[in-house]
Amino acid sequence: MSKRIQKPRGTRDILPDEYAFRERLLEKAFKILKTYGYRFIVTPTFEYTQLFTRTIGETTDIVEKEMFRFQDRGGRDLALRPEGTAPVIRAFLENRLIPPAKIAYFMNMFRAERPQKGRYREFWQIGVEAIGMKDPLIDAEVIELGARLLQEFGLENFIVEINSIGTKDEREAYKRALLDYIGEMESQGEITLCEDCQRRKETNPLRILDCKIDGPKLQNAPTILEFLSEDSYRYFEEVQKYLKKWGVDFVVNPRLVRGLDYYTHTAFEIKLKEIGAQDALIGGGRYDTLVEDLGGPATPAVGFAMGFDRVIVALGNIPRIKGPFYFVATVGDFARGYGIGLLRKIRNMGVPADMSYEIKSLKAQMKIADRIGAVKAVIVGEEEINRGKVRVRDMETGEELLVEEDKLRDLYEEELKRKKT
Ligand code: AMP
Repeated sequence: MSKRIQKPRGTRDILPDEYAFRERLLEKAFKILKTYGYRFIVTPTFEYTQLFTRTIGETTDIVEKEMFRFQDRGGRDLALRPEGTAPVIRAFLENRLIPPAKIAYFMNMFRAERPQKGRYREFWQIGVEAIGMKDPLIDAEVIELGARLLQEFGLENFIVEINSIGTKDEREAYKRALLDYIGEMESQGEITLCEDCQRRKETNPLRILDCKIDGPKLQNAPTILEFLSEDSYRYFEEVQKYLKKWGVDFVVNPRLVRGLDYYTHTAFEIKLKEIGAQDALIGGGRYDTLVEDLGGPATPAVGFAMGFDRVIVALGNIPRIKGPFYFVATVGDFARGYGIGLLRKIRNMGVPADMSYEIKSLKAQMKIADRIGAVKAVIVGEEEINRGKVRVRDMETGEELLVEEDKLRDLYEEELKRKKT
């Protein structure tokens, strides 16, 4: 036998139970996003690499080492999308959509990270981008929406962390102060930075605050909040005011900087409270210069991306989802022909149903019904046909009823209702 081929490292197969579970959560999410005025789009799975290098930043981990980058046959430099914001803004500009626009997406992303639970090389994000609006009201609404979605999914043990990283100028001033502080601590022998952070001093010093090794050494370093202008600070306070008014629990984390280059002002993350390596469920913030960086007119924007796979991990056990509602089982040749017609009739009522495609004994048919997780068996024999009724057996309790075929739909709906209450 030849060796079996396996899925690529860091990818996952999503199997029927999990798929059904995801579908249920997505239905909830899509409904809520629509009530907040979002409309969905999908962009190509791959883009010109430049779209990401120009926006996310040359010195970020994503661009430096995580992109799945390749050349097509024409020698064009392409990359599987590692995130959704830059593609959405590219599509927004290219298709001349008009601000203000609220755009949502559910798309798979690709990053060549070291795989572990909750961290994959292909993963799915639900994201929103509110384009063309600059007011603390929309920043707060985006944050509240993120928390609201998690709540609707049944998660409670999360915490919203917010910060303001100000304007580009304010951030530059802060970077200098942070580097001065680090330099001083180093010269006094108080701290030594890891190899990565030595490099980050040159490339992206704010990321040192994010570093698992060195971040904690900088507890007493100056924070970005001390470098915000009065306007920036007031903006941040207004965002907090709305969040308080709406009862969204949050903490200000002045060390929250986010990995991507394009953020300005509001930055936030929603994390699980339990300590774990992969605890961020949502990351987002304001990015007022990105549209311009991509060649569009100055247009402020704010958004977030939720790691949908991490939400699934956080929810724990995936419920086993039942198979088709009815399983049509037949006894005898005549009943089989009748049953095939009945199966079509039930499906046309919009009720999920199946039967054994091969001719088998009633016992064997019931076994299949059990294996595929049918809720009720519809048993058809000559006797039932003559009486114009079918026998419905509950697969769990074994209880049986004789009902008219036309009642099969009502029975299904009653059961759905019973489950919901
Ligand atoms: P980011 O685009 O890095 O801000 O990520 C936004 C969210 O996507 C994170 O908070 C995670 O929940 C999720 N995420 C990021 N990278 C991965 C990954 N490699 N695997 C699974 N989820 C991820």
